Amino acid sequence: MPFTANRQFKKSPRMFVAAKDMHYTTSDGRQVLDGTAGLWCVNAGHARPKIVEAIGKQAAELDYAPAFQMGHPKAFELANRIVDIAPDGLDHVLFTNSGSESVETALKVALAYHRAKGDGSRFRLIGRERGYHGVNFGGISVGGIVSNRKMFGTLLTGVDHLPHTHNLSKNAFSRGEPANGVELADELERIVTLHDASTIAAVIVEPVAGSTGVLIPPPGYLKRLREITKKHGILLIFDEVITGYGRLGTPFGADYFDVVPDIMVTAKGLTNGVIPMGAVLVSAEIHDAFMTGPEHLIEFFHGYTYSGNPIASAAGLATLETYKEEGLLTRGAELAKVWEDALHSLKGEPHVIDIRNIGLVGAIELEPIAGQPTKRAFSAFLNAFEQGYLIRTTGDIIALSPPLIISESQIGELIDAVRKALRSID
Ligand code: PMP
Repeated sequence: MPFTANRQFKKSPRMFVAAKDMHYTTSDGRQVLDGTAGLWCVNAGHARPKIVEAIGKQAAELDYAPAFQMGHPKAFELANRIVDIAPDGLDHVLFTNSGSESVETALKVALAYHRAKGDGSRFRLIGRERGYHGVNFGGISVGGIVSNRKMFGTLLTGVDHLPHTHNLSKNAFSRGEPANGVELADELERIVTLHDASTIAAVIVEPVAGSTGVLIPPPGYLKRLREITKKHGILLIFDEVITGYGRLGTPFGADYFDVVPDIMVTAKGLTNGVIPMGAVLVSAEIHDAFMTGPEHLIEFFHGYTYSGNPIASAAGLATLETYKEEGLLTRGAELAKVWEDALHSLKGEPHVIDIRNIGLVGAIELEPIAGQPTKRAFSAFLNAFEQGYLIRTTGDIIALSPPLIISESQIGELIDAVRKALRSID
């Protein structure tokens, strides 16, 4: 089982057998409210009819088309619909099958772009401490989660990391963006001075770091990264695998923070989590560098058997239609205040040392037990599951990201379940 306490799971497995709207059904017939949109992906809720129907219809009509040297209309249509909702300036799309693949694709596009422009000395990639960019070698190299890196050898060379912006002593219990830490963006200038800009291809950050515990940047931080990267001819990549498709109450994190990167990495919510698919958006400048660059770039030597798969494309189109019809890409903004107040009502509950929120995402950080990291949060997870609520934990942090269709009363229910779970911890 991936990212699972396997020994514990083997003793008492937890199984879902069905799902509809906000709820899962367990193998023993219990209803469980989905407090995490699956894994931050089922933004429109489960078993949405339009998506279910589109998948069946597409499977009967055109089940598969080769991704190389052949096209099919649905993939192009989906690319256009993604561009319609993306920030101005990001207008070309490459399809992948996951967030991890989207990350690798983005890193390779960045390196190949500089080469196409005759600037092949730009080989360095800059990530961030506590960043999560999936599990493939590029992603764990630019990522900054120690447990995901330490067992896997030397990783990519030529990688450096910015510091993260999480600062408990200064920013605990901030509502929305924390006040302190904007100056940490200037660490990029230090890295540029150390390596020289002419060796740096790209900087990759999550607008809001999700899997590492919902770390929200201070106001102005991403703008500053944008200024510094632009000044030095370095590409800025936003990994929007979590923040994309409405999670922050805007279509993308780039919209929330009003900063447009050169490359945007997406997946998860693109198909409502129903079919594996990712999409990498790039600027016209990057696209044009490949289309008009040296002859050896006549092909972009990268791609997957299932890139732009017809059934995934149909699911993506139906998902984006559902988001549009139901206003889900901005619903997080409508619920943000209720969500924030509900989450912060947990201040003062046992073990809670910080609460963070933005859009329809939240985190509750617990005081770690020395030598037993994750223990308290995992115990809360098990208790919430017993009560009929799915929450997620990462280390000593409880992360919440319900489907964007959640009602205000369900928000109250979910937070009360977390309150009970916190009180149940030994
Ligand atoms: N990037 C980010 C920011 C993510 O949150 C995730 C998944 N949580 C990934 C990449 C990897 O996505 P996947 O699991 O689909 O490979």
